[in-house]
Order: sequence, then structure tokens, then C-alpha cells
Amino acid sequence: MIKRPLKIDHLGIAVPDLGEATKAWEALGFTVEAAHDVPTEKVKAAFLPIGESHLELLQPTDPTSVIAKFLERRRGLHHVCVLVEDLEATLREMKARGVRLIDQEPRPGAGGCRVAFVHPDATGGVLLELKERAPRRTPARLGGGPGSGRRPPGRPPGPATT
Ligand code: ZN
Repeated sequence: MIKRPLKIDHLGIAVPDLGEATKAWEALGFTVEAAHDVPTEKVKAAFLPIGESHLELLQPTDPTSVIAKFLERRRGLHHVCVLVEDLEATLREMKARGVRLIDQEPRPGAGGCRVAFVHPDATGGVLLELKERAPRRTPARLGGGPGSGRRPPGRPPGPATT
């Protein structure tokens, strides 16, 4: 089981048009922090910070994307993401208890983090994403080259540095 769920990392919201959706949320007073492609999920994602958590707006980039399939039925809240300390150990224990998982192993998620999804059947109907806290970057890697990171140096992903 999740030994130490650290916080709600983000809520994933499926939208047909990321540009329109970000405009709508900005009109409500939210800030769009970062938007990027997640090719492994066939989505474009934009993150809107809310305190230590985020909203994640997700637009499919391919009709075979799970978000595209979701949008065929409805739009809106797609998943809840909880930050965990040790994703592999969490998955191991869930498997041992027979929890229905979508991902048996961690896979790459947005922003270079490792994630895994738990089937809605195991949670009473909510798709649950488990995300591992990003490894701390060494100063040597922060210098980076082009494309080495989506955020400028000094602004590592994760919780605010306070
Ligand atoms: Zn997510």
C-alpha cells in the first residue's frame, strides 16, 4: 500500500483543445506554468499551479490516446495523482494484495517523473495516478544543454523551494 502518500500532486482534466482550455482557466485567474508534449501518452499537457499542487490539462495529440477515448464519452476530471515516496515498493505491495493495476511497473510520465496508474475498479471509480518524487538534480546537470530540461535552471520541478 502507499506508505506515505505525500500530497495530491495534481488533478488531470481532459480537454479537447488545450489553447482554449488554458485561456478559460487564465480568465479565472490561474497561471499556466508549463505546457509540453508527452509523446508516450500521446497528449499535450499544461500545468497550472495551485499551492503545492497543480491542475493538469490534457489534450490528446492522437485519436488512439486514452484521453481521446475518454473525450468520446465525456470531458472533465480524468484522474487524481498522488505523490508517493517509493513507487516500486508501492506497486509491489499493491500487486501482492491483488490490487488491479493498469501499470505493473513504473513508466515515464510528464516532466521526467516516474508514474503508474491504478485501475478505477480498485478505487471506487477514480483513475489513480501514482507519481514518484523526482530525483534531485545535481548542479552539474542543471547547466544542461539545449533540450536538457523544460524549465529554466533554478526552478526545479516539484514543490516550491520553501
Ligand atoms: Zn497526471
